[in-house]
Amino acid sequence: MSARNVIIIGSGPAGLTAAIYTARANLAPLVIEGEPSSTSDQPGGQLMLTTDVENFPGFPEGIMGPELMTKFREQAQRFGAEFITERVTAVDLSVRPFRVSVRDTVHEADAVIVSTGAQSMMLGLESEARLLGHGLSTCATCDGFFFRGQEIAVVGGGDSAMEEATFLTRFAAKVTVIHRRDALRASKIMQDRAFNNPKIEFRWNTVVDDLVGTDRLEGAVVRDVLTGETATLPVTGLFVAIGHTPNTALFAGVLDQDDEGYLVTHPGSSATNIPGVFACGDVQDHTYRQAVTAAGSGCMAAIDAERWLEAKSD
Ligand code: NAP
Repeated sequence: MSARNVIIIGSGPAGLTAAIYTARANLAPLVIEGEPSSTSDQPGGQLMLTTDVENFPGFPEGIMGPELMTKFREQAQRFGAEFITERVTAVDLSVRPFRVSVRDTVHEADAVIVSTGAQSMMLGLESEARLLGHGLSTCATCDGFFFRGQEIAVVGGGDSAMEEATFLTRFAAKVTVIHRRDALRASKIMQDRAFNNPKIEFRWNTVVDDLVGTDRLEGAVVRDVLTGETATLPVTGLFVAIGHTPNTALFAGVLDQDDEGYLVTHPGSSATNIPGVFACGDVQDHTYRQAVTAAGSGCMAAIDAERWLEAKSD
């Protein structure tokens, strides 16, 4: 078996952009794109769980998330990228060429691009799967615009929840922050911003027990954890902002991670602590987390990999 030039693990906007660029550079990339039945490493990444995407440049009328990812994939295939629709089960980055396993099959490559993404933490309710993208969202920047003049809620008490709640007041008539305790985790400045916003109300010591609605969200069943009292909030939008988890389990103890588990890349580059291994997209970014920034970093990883392979063959 001869080693590939490059294997790309993950197929969201970052991985597929890396595939387009490396394929056009004649590197014949292999993309191991994930497992369709999974909600954490599904091919196409988090955009497969959204509906309208209105902020990806080049689509003035907007585009559905899954359709956008199909277009990314077709573009990569057009230039010869190959795909395996399975999940990577193990990697060995201690040997050269690197070894990337899909169950019993080992693929070898001189360079690896990691674009395994991140997943939003969810509440764990059965109704979440049904209503995600239909009133239930994990991204205010992406979906806030759809809730103009409506009453909505944000779950969480950290910086993300405060940032999202504050941002959403640009559109919504009212934003209720639902937090499970009586004190916020968010930084003081973000708290103050939210407390001083007349459109934001707080429901303390409260959890969401269920979501109401079949095709679209119509309300959230909330429970006061101190009194046990329940109520249905008539919200048409619910933003879950209780944190994200980067998909880095495959690289534990091998690739450097920050305190929150995100892969660390060298500043201004996609290089990781292992020469020849590059990371892009949400797996190394907890700041921006946008499709377009992920795509941009996928381009960086492809160019970094290409230059690294070239230098190595000199
Ligand atoms: P976070 O700081 O971990 O906060 C998560 C919040 O969600 C906490 O309030 C937590 O409650 C709550 N929560 C967790 N699991 C829950 C569950 N199952 N049900 C209900 N509530 C739950 O996460 P984050 O807000 O996403 O922030 C992550 C990191 O990014 C932080 O370091 C943050 O400072 C940073 N960040 C910074 C900015 C900024 O500076 N502009 C913006 C966004 C994020 P408890 O408090 O009870 O644990």
